[in-house]
Amino acid sequence: MKSHSKTVPIAVALHGGSGTILRQNLSEELENEYRHALATALDIAWNILENGGSALDAVEKGACSLEDCPLFNAGAGSVLTAEGIHELDASIMFGKDRNAGAVTGIRTVRNPISLARAAMEKSSFVFLGGDGAEQFADTTNLERVPEDWFTTKERADQLKEAQQRDTAVMDHDGTPNKFGTIGVVALDLNGDLASATSTGGLTNKQFGRIGDSPVIGAGTYADNMTCAISCTGYGEEFIRAVVAHDVASRMRYLGESLEQAAHEIVHVQLPKIDGCGGLVGVDCKGNVTLPFNTDGMYRAWRSSLHGEGVEIFK
Ligand code: ASP
Repeated sequence: MKSHSKTVPIAVALHGGSGTILRQNLSEELENEYRHALATALDIAWNILENGGSALDAVEKGACSLEDCPLFNAGAGSVLTAEGIHELDASIMFGKDRNAGAVTGIRTVRNPISLARAAMEKSSFVFLGGDGAEQFADTTNLERVPEDWFTTKERADQLKEAQQRDTAVMDHDGTPNKFGTIGVVALDLNGDLASATSTGGLTNKQFGRIGDSPVIGAGTYADNMTCAISCTGYGEEFIRAVVAHDVASRMRYLGESLEQAAHEIVHVQLPKIDGCGGLVGVDCKGNVTLPFNTDGMYRAWRSSLHGEGVEIFK
C-alpha cells in the first residue's frame, strides 16, 4: 500500500450475489474459483484507485471483470428468462454530482455496466430500456456479442428446473435461491464515491420483469455526502424498500454511521417485508460494510483504513 493511503483513504467493496450459499453445497474447487474471481475484480478496482484513478472507473472496470466471469449472474453467465433469452440490467452512479445511468432488457452488449455508464455520460437520459437501449448501444463503440454468448449450461439447466417447479427463484424447501448479481462500490483519492450494479435478474422471469439492480435508489446509489451502495437480493422487496437510497437517507437525516444504517435496513427493515439479500457500502471516510440476511454473500473489500478480505459464507 502506498503511503498516501494513510492520510487520504481509498476503499472498494464488491459482491457477487447473496442467497442460499452453504459451504456444504460448494466444492473446494468451485469455492476457490469464486474467491479468485472476487479477488481479481478487487485488484482491478484497487489498482485504479491506488494510481489516482476515479471511483467511477474503478467500479466500472471491477464490474466488467465480474460480468465477464460466467460464475456470476451478470453479463456472461446470466440467468435466462421464461422465454429462454437474456434480459440484462445494470446501473451506475457517481457520488460527486449524483449523475446516474441505467439500462434494462439488454441482449447484445457484452458489458451492460459500460452501457449504463455511456447512458450517463453520452445521452441526456438516465434510464434506457429494451430495443431503445440496444439502439443507443449502436451509437457507442461498446462490444456486441451474439445472445448465446451469455448462456452457460448451468443457467440452461436452472431454467429447466425452475420451469418444472413453476417458480422464479425458490428452492424445493421454499427457501430463497442464490442471487448472483454483481456490484462494486468505491471511494477514490479525490473523495468521490461511485456505485455499479449489474445482473441477469431472476431465472424464469416473465413479462419484462425488472428488478432493483438497474433502479437508481433501489439497487444502486451514490452521494459524496453519505455513501455508495450496491444491493443484491430479491429485487421486488429492494424496490419497495428503496434500499440503497434509504441507507444514504438514514446517514444524512438521522446521523447514523454507514454500518448502523446498513444494518438497520438489512436486518430490521427488509425482514419486515420478507426481503432477503444484502448490500455492500462504502462511505466518504473509507468505512466499508457488507451486511446480508441470507446464508451467504460472495463478497470482497479492501480499504486503506480497514484492511481487506474475501468471504463467501456467514
Ligand atoms: N436483485 C436482483 C434482481 O432482483 C437479483 C440478484 O440480486 O441476484 O433482479
